[in-house]
Amino acid sequence: MAQVDNPVPFLVFGAPRIEEPEIAEAEACLRSGWLGTGPRVAQFEQDFADWRHVLPSQVAAVNSCTAALHVSMVAAGLEPGSEVITTPLTFCATVNAILHAGLSPVLADVDPVTQNIDPDAIEAAITPRTRAILPVHFAGRPCDMGQIMAIAERHGLLVIEDCAHAIESEYRGQAVGTFGDFGCFSFYVTKNVVTGEGGMILGRDEEHVARARILALHGMSKDAWHRFGDKGYRHYQVVECGFKYNMMDLQAAIGIHQLARVEQNWERRRELWLRYDEAFAGLPIGLPAPAEADTRHGYHLYTIMVDEARCGISRDDFLEAMNAARIGTGVHYLSIPEHPYYQQRFGWQPEQWPQAMSLGRQTVSLPLSPAMTDEDARRVVEAVTAIVGGS
Ligand SMILES: *Cc1c(COP(=O)(O)O)cnc(C)c1O
Repeated sequence: MAQVDNPVPFLVFGAPRIEEPEIAEAEACLRSGWLGTGPRVAQFEQDFADWRHVLPSQVAAVNSCTAALHVSMVAAGLEPGSEVITTPLTFCATVNAILHAGLSPVLADVDPVTQNIDPDAIEAAITPRTRAILPVHFAGRPCDMGQIMAIAERHGLLVIEDCAHAIESEYRGQAVGTFGDFGCFSFYVTKNVVTGEGGMILGRDEEHVARARILALHGMSKDAWHRFGDKGYRHYQVVECGFKYNMMDLQAAIGIHQLARVEQNWERRRELWLRYDEAFAGLPIGLPAPAEADTRHGYHLYTIMVDEARCGISRDDFLEAMNAARIGTGVHYLSIPEHPYYQQRFGWQPEQWPQAMSLGRQTVSLPLSPAMTDEDARRVVEAVTAIVGGS
């Protein structure tokens, strides 16, 4: 029976584009009886390594980017309490992973135009206890890796790149995640390549990656595939106190085909991005800065700025109005020191990082999924224009 109350379907923010090959592979995986870490994870690692032009021994699939960040920092062997400089405009997982690794997060404010960590603020935050920099390539825009790597070299610091938004991003022709000691990727449902939950560690040093891989599976010296495969039973040895962070074949089954379409999906998001840029040019809202020369933007989040003084509507009322128009939105992000946990533990206040605070209080992420139709994009444009465009 036709629905009369709500004829317009809700446009889900960050809906993944799942196609027949993923479905067939997931089915084949289920029918094979091997759901856990095995040949499909190995294949996904190989594909990812080939795509980023690194060795298979330089990558390790895990079950989230949070896990990737955590074990990377443990594998790096930093002494407890070492300071890690990161951005206040990120998902809480970035900071929580630093804490879980027994390290101490230090925030350095962002550049108001790029919304990425400001290299000058990194310099200013360095103390004798600083051991690492953890930049986040926000919304898919590569950080200034030239300056960040120069600072790291000058001060002898490790670099761990949070590439959760930036699977396709490049800086001066080089893929992000390959500059630092580690690059950590997310395949969460809203990200550019999805496996449901999932992540990847990319490391410059093969020994670091080998240790991260062991840490991601209980600290066992041989993974389950090698123990229970057709080569006969193999004893394992526990060589570290590890975690349970391994990726399943069922997840990799999706990822293999998602990765095969990574460029196609990037093209579609770029199209939507340019369409928004054009449609919103005359509106009283802030738009994302254009991609910088000699970089490749990942086009993960299209973030507009809703300043109440300029638009006549508050950011939160704008979110409500979009919801009433049956369009899902996101907020990336309220700055880290807006959250009570960090305020209570570290005494942080949002005002200490004013750029991140002000961006976080005005930002709205619009739907930018490759699953969107032209009609979906038209609805988004129409709703935003009606809400902030006056009459
Ligand atoms: C999504 C995200 C993460 C965490 O990724 P998971 O795979 O969900 O653990 C970390 N950092 C940033 C910036 C993210 O957006």
